[in-house]
Amino acid sequence: MPRVIDKDCVKCGACTADCPVEAIHEEPEQFVVDPNVCIDCGECHCPFGHMGKIPFDFNKYRTQGK
Ligand code: SF4
Ligand code: SF4
Repeated sequence: MPRVIDKDCVKCGACTADCPVEAIHEEPEQFVVDPNVCIDCGECHCPFGHMGKIPFDFNKYRTQGK
């Protein structure tokens, strides 16, 4: 399952440098992981603890920036 970024993302952009397939991109309110691109390699890390794996507290996360 793809990684997800929670709504408290502070848009620092650090996680984008970790991703080998460029699955993470910026949207107006936060950065998001494209579930169709993420290969679940586990290389991405958020220094603020805003990245996780589906499923846990799914309603807390966006996958399309809505
Ligand atoms: S998920 Fe974390 S590392 Fe990525 S942009 Fe948001 S705050 Fe920064
Ligand atoms: S798990 Fe891997 S492929 Fe998915 S967003 Fe993180 S670094 Fe990118």
